[in-house]
Amino acid sequence: MSSIQAQDIISIIREEIENFDWDQTSREVGTVISVGDGIATIYGIDHAMYGEIVLFENGEKGMVQDIRRNEIGVILFGRDAGIYEGMKVSRTEKRAGIPVGDAFVGRVINALGEPIDGKGDIVSTGYNPIEREAPGIIDRQPVNKPLETGILAIDSMFPIGRGQRELIIGDRQTGKTSIAVDTILNQKGKDIICIYVAIGQKATTVGKVEHTLEEHGAMDYSIILSATAAEPASLQYVAPYAGTALGEYFMDQGRDVLIIYDDLSKHAVAYREISLLLGRSPGREAYPGDVFYLHSRLLERSSHLSDEKGGGSMTALPIIETQNGDVSAYISTNVISITDGQIFLETGLFFSGQRPAVNVGLSVSRVGGAAQTKAMKKASGSIRVDLAQYRELEVFTQFASDLDPTTKAELDHGSALMELLKQPLSHPMSMAEEVISLVLANHNFFDSTPKKLIKKEQAQVLDDFHKNHGLVISELTEKKALTEDLEQEIVEFAEDFRKEAGQVDTSAADSNDKKADSEGSKDPAETAGDKGSQSDAASDHEEA
Ligand code: ATP
Ligand code: MG
Repeated sequence: MSSIQAQDIISIIREEIENFDWDQTSREVGTVISVGDGIATIYGIDHAMYGEIVLFENGEKGMVQDIRRNEIGVILFGRDAGIYEGMKVSRTEKRAGIPVGDAFVGRVINALGEPIDGKGDIVSTGYNPIEREAPGIIDRQPVNKPLETGILAIDSMFPIGRGQRELIIGDRQTGKTSIAVDTILNQKGKDIICIYVAIGQKATTVGKVEHTLEEHGAMDYSIILSATAAEPASLQYVAPYAGTALGEYFMDQGRDVLIIYDDLSKHAVAYREISLLLGRSPGREAYPGDVFYLHSRLLERSSHLSDEKGGGSMTALPIIETQNGDVSAYISTNVISITDGQIFLETGLFFSGQRPAVNVGLSVSRVGGAAQTKAMKKASGSIRVDLAQYRELEVFTQFASDLDPTTKAELDHGSALMELLKQPLSHPMSMAEEVISLVLANHNFFDSTPKKLIKKEQAQVLDDFHKNHGLVISELTEKKALTEDLEQEIVEFAEDFRKEAGQVDTSAADSNDKKADSEGSKDPAETAGDKGSQSDAASDHEEA
């Protein structure tokens, strides 16, 4: 591919002699030598920059991706069917960019910034290059404000700060996208612009995300940038950079941005495809040698800017899909080393009903603790250790029949915690709710509750706090601190509540079960169906 064929040279020379035009020599017009698989090789453009946009005669655009001695390799953003050998191509001297502006909020766009939601044109106010150097050290400040996900398991143990990069990693269908989407839902009313970048996803997945955001009024502060699996590799490749450029527009105004790259494994695959087609030599797992730089230069652009630079921030939640839980594959180790921590989702946990399926042992957040509110820090103090102990004990006591009371208490406490960390989709918790739940868990409030009823009791207690103890909630929300007195108060209120209401409910649930059982003795076949619908109803109720 790198050397020009003899026929090509003859045709080029003939054409150049025929069409020689003195006026045009300064415009740098080249000729297509070959085209295919979304890549065009062009001869005659000598000064093109890497990442520059070139314009084909038929109006199609391409981006310079490979510069060789005599020719350049260009990736095409549109269809390559209309492009043929000998076609004229001219430089634009503009680097690839994306239109930006406030009007993009609430819209669904493609990787070129064009609307694809059928809601008409978007009025842009500027044009940002998709590739930009990351802010330097001087222009940054430490991460010091939390970005709350509303997911108890994450906010308590793996807190994320504004400007941080936290990886969400796990096998397919383990709830990776759900965590990202729930995090967007939780930013409602917090003045954070959320950008969801879909790379190589199914169009239905993107549609579902849009629907969920729409349904919860989250599109008011969100942008979806979509390059689905059906689109050319070139668009999938530029999508995360384009999304970041859009995010930078808001960050530069001093605003806070949350950006989700779903997912970077598919991004790496798109880049591998382009690189192999451009004739670069394959390295480990057939990825080109610069694949690390692909993601490092992207994620470095997420930062918390200094006050002189406006104090804006961009928090990144890249997603990586693993195969069989193998985090040591090439791309996942790369991205793990670039990010400030990872949330590891495990298939086993997911299918055992522990959702979100966060693996407490393998997940980590390296900087977020600095951004946690005082209240959350205090309330979540021992929960990681408690869970670690629980996991060990659980293995050791798996086959033991009689346990001493201390071990049993620890096991009860651990399983209550695990139960408490379960959270249905689209139900983000506020910081105050999370702190109250954790305080109660630390005081072993839920340890004696039957496992099945823990989530229900938690919901009822929180409901009671909202209805009758608004002061506790507002104190936590405003002061973000947890005093000894407040902690004591929370426990007392909850115990009072249990005395009044808890007992009644538990017995009601019991008697329901008994009723179902006694019906079962009449007609087993019928109740099998009955029970199914009943448990469905129960889980619906839980979610509500
Ligand atoms: P993929 O690999 O296909 O991208 P994923 O890891 O992004 O999958 P999701 O699409 O987020 O996973 O979730 C997979 C399924 O699990 C979905 O049907 C979703 O509704 C369900 N799910 C995810 N999280 C929860 C949860 N906390 N509670 C109940 N169901 C959940
Ligand atoms: Mg997904």
